[in-house]
Amino acid sequence: MNPFNNIISPEIKQLYNYAIEEILSDTGLTIPCVLYYDKPSVHSFCNNCVIDPISQVSSNLYNSTGPSPFPENTICPVCGGSGLISGESSETLNLAVLFDHKYFIKFVDATYLNYPNNSIQTICSSSLVKKIRACSKLSLSGTAGQFSYTEYRRESDPQPIGFGDSNYIVTLWRIS
Ligand SMILES: [Zn+2]
Repeated sequence: MNPFNNIISPEIKQLYNYAIEEILSDTGLTIPCVLYYDKPSVHSFCNNCVIDPISQVSSNLYNSTGPSPFPENTICPVCGGSGLISGESSETLNLAVLFDHKYFIKFVDATYLNYPNNSIQTICSSSLVKKIRACSKLSLSGTAGQFSYTEYRRESDPQPIGFGDSNYIVTLWRIS
């Protein structure tokens, strides 16, 4: 009989999840990372103002759902009156970052067994999977950013990790 049978109790799994959660918390081992979301090839209509259907520019009226309310008949602060916004956007998220490939989490997918030089791994909650997938580029912010101005491009699809569950995802990035 395998002496390790049933050694992974629900309590052990919970302990593991607590430990990872602490590592991933904003006061844990995370560093702020700027995620750049893919730029659509065309500009999209402003999400903050009413677009005039004829001229297709801003009607200078707040649409009541956008992020930046503004007084009637003033210039929309989001699109500047053009009615269009650039699709490029970025967001800063706190992610755990592994710089040393010795400590990288092994991917199940054999494609990523040979880590490229200067690659990093990020670990975060699986709730961020959509954001990570939508993101093609990442740069390090805060103190880490002072040592590294490098941008990383996403090298792998986010891979689920966990102790019997998939609460976390690990993603491989490579210097671009
Ligand atoms: Zn607008």
